[in-house]
Amino acid sequence: MVGHLNAFLSVFLSVYGQISAMDFSNYDALLERAHGQLPERINTTARFEMPQVDILMEGNKTILKNFVQVAKAFSREEGQLQKFLTKELGSYSTVSGERLIFNKKVYGKKIGDAVKRFAADYVICPQCGKPDTHYASMEGIKILKCEACGAWKPIKAIV
Ligand SMILES: [Zn+2]
Repeated sequence: MVGHLNAFLSVFLSVYGQISAMDFSNYDALLERAHGQLPERINTTARFEMPQVDILMEGNKTILKNFVQVAKAFSREEGQLQKFLTKELGSYSTVSGERLIFNKKVYGKKIGDAVKRFAADYVICPQCGKPDTHYASMEGIKILKCEACGAWKPIKAIV
């Protein structure tokens, strides 16, 4: 009897041991994967979501339907964003309600890319990637200053 019990126990233990060892290695692997998926800084809130441009072609005109919404997402003056896009896309534009109308055909992707450049140059903190920034001036130079981490960078005036 004792022999049987020992045999049973040793089988049980070896099986159980394998299972638990397996569980642990899975757990470690999971943990490692989880760590790999964690954002670099745990304290940051959700990543800034780039607003998507909503484009409509109308004859020889191109309409950025959600222009005001895009400017709002960046917390920037509409006039500034308009100036930037006008310059980047080489097209005059007029604001009409929520929309910005370019007086020529512009591919939607070009407008989307220009909006991304605006965000990179004038909105997003180069250090922490947050959009909580404002303009300031330092020794006569215009800078973009981050309210979240304090980083800053010089910015070009939009002419
Ligand atoms: Zn920052």
